[in-house]
Amino acid sequence: MTLEDLSTGEWQALDSAHHMAPFTDYAEQRRHGARIITHADGHYIHDSEGNRILDGMAGLWCVNVGYGRQELVEAAARQMTELPYYNNFFKTSNRPIAELSARLAAITPDGLNNVFYANSGSEANDTIIRMVRHFWALEGRPEKRVIIGRDYGYHGSTVMAASMGGMSGMHEQAAHEADFEHIRPPYGFVYQGNQDEAAFAANAASWLAERIDEVGADRVAAFIAEPVQGAGGVIIPPQGYFDHIQEICRQHDILFIADEVITGFGRTGEWFASQTMGLQPDMMTLAKGLTSGYVPMSAVMVGDRVANRLIADGGEFYHGFTYSGHPVAAAVALANLDLIEREGLIERVRTDTGPYLAAALAPLADHRIVGEVRTFGMLAAIELVKSGDGPEMFADTGAAGVICRDHAIAGGLMMRAVRDAMILSPPLTFGRNDIDATVNMVAAALDATADELGL
Ligand SMILES: *Cc1c(COP(=O)(O)O)cnc(C)c1O
Repeated sequence: MTLEDLSTGEWQALDSAHHMAPFTDYAEQRRHGARIITHADGHYIHDSEGNRILDGMAGLWCVNVGYGRQELVEAAARQMTELPYYNNFFKTSNRPIAELSARLAAITPDGLNNVFYANSGSEANDTIIRMVRHFWALEGRPEKRVIIGRDYGYHGSTVMAASMGGMSGMHEQAAHEADFEHIRPPYGFVYQGNQDEAAFAANAASWLAERIDEVGADRVAAFIAEPVQGAGGVIIPPQGYFDHIQEICRQHDILFIADEVITGFGRTGEWFASQTMGLQPDMMTLAKGLTSGYVPMSAVMVGDRVANRLIADGGEFYHGFTYSGHPVAAAVALANLDLIEREGLIERVRTDTGPYLAAALAPLADHRIVGEVRTFGMLAAIELVKSGDGPEMFADTGAAGVICRDHAIAGGLMMRAVRDAMILSPPLTFGRNDIDATVNMVAAALDATADELGL
């Protein structure tokens, strides 16, 4: 008997006996086993029970060009044949990484002309923390160490990246390092009340100014933000929020860092949300869509101010990973960028599928258990509520979200729940027909959830 002959139950038992999966309750994993994904094509994933599921999450916000793209497979195979690996330590480099660095400098906002590579968003953000503190030390201001992030911000799972992020559950599990501060996010659904958009934007930005005053600007190194908070629940800032934020950072000489791990590579209808929103970050985090998830790769875009200081008198930067600037990852990233350009995916999101997704989801706002629908490019959140009057939230946060998610998956749509917000982040290759199918399955999942909860 070969492993191919195992039943789903046997695969699950083999998996859960040894595999400690990420963000997983291990008791539950051992009791129930995981869904075993066997293959994927286009916009669908397939499991070992023969289910075909429309991937409304692009994997984990990353498979932006969809599954089964032979261009990426061939780029990896070619590069593996020619040069599968060589390090970039000690004055060596490789051709794909040189080419990719120039491409990234060209498509990112002006002034971000330098790239440091890592393998995950977490490592890229750890790199940023070290680089930012090193920068201020070189400026003769080593006391500028504090980095301010936001509640519900997600910057990764390493000790430092999780400390910088604003997930309290992660902080409670040995990721609460010193010199990180968190302010409230511009979460209109919870905090806006009866303020108009402009007033709320100014108010939410003032939370940063207040925190800087409390900590002391002479101790604050940087402010980091996802342009749209992803894992925190697709929190979309009000118009003008980042104008105020950037002004506050400039006034206090604090670096502004945009974590574009989710919002990069076309998801908001430009290459980067920084362009969609008019941001000029000093540094930028890239991962996920950089390779559409086909192989791991991340990058830190380093602005000229920071880079020039390191070049001028930084000496050796004692930091790097065995796989920094991996040639296979770079070859896949280049093929991925080619695909995005050739298929006009960014323009399609901006002019066609982004607006279409917003229009198609909008009517769901009238559903009896929906409090708000919000979209930004190919990102969407649907807030579940007990009653649209008020609106009245669920007392047991997260329970309704899980019920709705399970109904969606059972109905054939992969959708995620963050607290009681249902989240979509589909591949950028989604067409109008895929969006229609998604909205129909979301509507069915909402009905089933309301019925199950007796609402
Ligand atoms: C996923 C994510 C990260 C972490 O990336 P990993 O590759 O999982 O380490 C960082 N920032 C944001 C905004 C993310 O969405």
